[in-house]
Amino acid sequence: MNRLSSHLHGRTILIVDDIPANLAVAVDYLEDSGFNVMVAQDGEEGVERAQLVRPDLILLDVMMPGIDGFETCRRLKKIESTRDIPVIFMTALADTKDKVAAFAAGGVDYVTKPFQVEELLARITTHLTLRAAQKQLVTQNAQLHTSEVRYRRLFETAKDGILLLDFETGRITDVNASVVDMLGYSRNHFLNQTLWEVAPFKDIPACRITFNELKTREHVSLEHWPLAAHDHSLVDVEFIGNVYNVDGARVAQCNIRDITSRIQDQARIRYMALHDTLTGLPNRILLQDRLSQAITLACRNKERVAVLMLDLDHFKHINDSLGHHIGDSLLEAVSMRLRACLRDSDIVARLGGDEFVIALPEVATNQDSEEVVQKVLTSLLDPFEIDGHKLQISGSIGIAQYPLDGENPGVLLRAADTAMYAAKAKVRGSYKFFTPELNLATQRRLMLVNDLHHASARGEFLLYYQPQISTKTSVITGVEALLRWKHPHLGFISPIEFIPLLEELGLIIEVGRWVLKTACLQSVAWKNEGLPQVRMAANVSAQQFYRGDLARTVEEVLRESQIDPKWLELELTETLTLDDSDTTINIMLKLKQLGVSLSLDDFGTGWSSLSYLRRFPLDRIKIDRSFMRDIPSQPAAEAVVTSIIDLARNLGLTCIAEGVETTEQLDYLEIKKCAEIQGFLYSPALPASDCGELIRLGKPAFIIVPDVIADVGSGDNLLRINGSIS
Ligand code: C2E
Ligand code: CA
Ligand code: CA
Repeated sequence: MNRLSSHLHGRTILIVDDIPANLAVAVDYLEDSGFNVMVAQDGEEGVERAQLVRPDLILLDVMMPGIDGFETCRRLKKIESTRDIPVIFMTALADTKDKVAAFAAGGVDYVTKPFQVEELLARITTHLTLRAAQKQLVTQNAQLHTSEVRYRRLFETAKDGILLLDFETGRITDVNASVVDMLGYSRNHFLNQTLWEVAPFKDIPACRITFNELKTREHVSLEHWPLAAHDHSLVDVEFIGNVYNVDGARVAQCNIRDITSRIQDQARIRYMALHDTLTGLPNRILLQDRLSQAITLACRNKERVAVLMLDLDHFKHINDSLGHHIGDSLLEAVSMRLRACLRDSDIVARLGGDEFVIALPEVATNQDSEEVVQKVLTSLLDPFEIDGHKLQISGSIGIAQYPLDGENPGVLLRAADTAMYAAKAKVRGSYKFFTPELNLATQRRLMLVNDLHHASARGEFLLYYQPQISTKTSVITGVEALLRWKHPHLGFISPIEFIPLLEELGLIIEVGRWVLKTACLQSVAWKNEGLPQVRMAANVSAQQFYRGDLARTVEEVLRESQIDPKWLELELTETLTLDDSDTTINIMLKLKQLGVSLSLDDFGTGWSSLSYLRRFPLDRIKIDRSFMRDIPSQPAAEAVVTSIIDLARNLGLTCIAEGVETTEQLDYLEIKKCAEIQGFLYSPALPASDCGELIRLGKPAFIIVPDVIADVGSGDNLLRINGSIS
């Protein structure tokens, strides 16, 4: 038995013959082979059945009664449903004419009777296979057509710009709408041009190479091409090239993807990573990078690099009193002034907070650096006008130099930082070159910072009290509580050194509360001992004032200590009360409502604006002790002191002079009718018991010779002085 290949199995064959009996053998044979065989006995029946059963192939006898085979075939070819069915003619005639007629009628083949069944089967199989292939081709063509349509649609609507290039020549055969949108050139601008000759691609030298690469590798992708659009704007694109076979021809498809915003994002992120967002100045990372470059260059040219660390003085106060918004604006304004007074080759960076670094790449001598430092400090002198506030600010600068003080950015920055702190400790608004000795100061600072954390818990803080004396009656009218830190190893540390550290650490609020409470309790204790009552003055730092909810703290302390509020005075330092903002005045008013009095400390050193004096609910002005030094020798100092005393009188405020050390000073103040004085002339700050003794005496019973106290400060040798009380 013949086996049909599986795809032909079960196919239907219609045999049209007037004497089917003649074909009995063939029918059996075909059925045995797996075909489905049907028979019709004349042409008309054949056409009818063919329409009905849709055979896969028709065997058609030529000579038949009625319509003959040719006519039958012609009819079949006219009918839609049967048109494509292959027809094989069966003919007894071996005539060429008939053969021609058979093909002309639409047959695909003919067999001559009597035929060999094997031959018949072979021909049938061939034509069925051919037919199947044909059908497949048709569906494939249909599919091809739809995918082409789909491709076209994708091509036109793609977000990517797509350019189709002739693979051989590189000429552009088509571009889609996105290319036109993206680059602003018309479609025609591109057509028939090679990629590397047409704008804007011709500006990219890699174009030609890329195309050649595409030819060998069939795929290239390039992360970033900046293309100039027709309107000269820059479009960043990613370029992806692929090669496809289309109808046997090779086509290069080049996609350009607009990544402008991605590139911008990346640039922004990179910029943000390397710059300070507020001022736009380089940050620490970029600074270190630039500094390294400058050092490399200086090493080669045998030059120096100077690193200036600039820290703004009292910036914290501005932030605390006027808010971050003003603080930020001030930093921006400062950064602008710095840029303006420096050369382009100088590097200015902001390390955060109020710290700026200026690197000078080409300096030869200390003097070169000093000139720039002077310029920088001078540039800060003019007040800054911010949001209606006139802000005066100074800066302290530390200078380190390559190669003298260090070989790399890290060491130099640390050295400049150390020098800056030293400058700050000296006088605000000054500068200092790094010296190796300064490292010791830094180490000490670090140690103190470390120890301060535990000082309060370990009871290392105590209060000393310095009398305030009436110039008229010479009796003690008040005392100022002054904080002392008795370090377990170093002994007494000056508040000038540790109070700024407490502020930096944020500990001043807690310690300040302790000061207030201890002072009040001492006042009550003296009263209970039967001493004449005097004012108790306590110092309040800016942080306590603005961040510490001071009114609440004071209220609590008054309650806890049971002190009569009229005996408590708060000393607010002038540098703290930056302006007459409502915040400042409101806090002051709240304090006044509690019944305590307020004095303005260190008057004359801070903000020159005197207008706020009128608005502040103050009781007393303390003339800063720096003026006292030059009294009575310097007329200018005298003039200032005189005008402060007059001003206070006009405003109805009491005046107290600090730092009175000599009788000449006292005489002068008496003449000028300054109400009170405080100073070593009468007494330094003393432990509570000693100060209590003085109050009990009602009058200071001794005078300390100024020379003796000159180097006393607030240290241990106070006891020695106390020992001399007679
Ligand atoms: P201040 O408030 O101006 O305190 C007066 C300072 O002048 C005291 O220094 C005092 O010992 C010193 N002094 C007094 N008489 C004379 C004199 O005749 N000649 C000289 N040259 N100095 C004199 P001290 O105790 O070292 O305090 C320094 C600063 O530390 C204070 O200056 C104040 O600003 C701060 N301070 C002290 N205790 C506290 C406190 O409890 N809280 C706060 N926030 N600050 C404090
Ligand atoms: Ca004070
Ligand atoms: Ca003072």
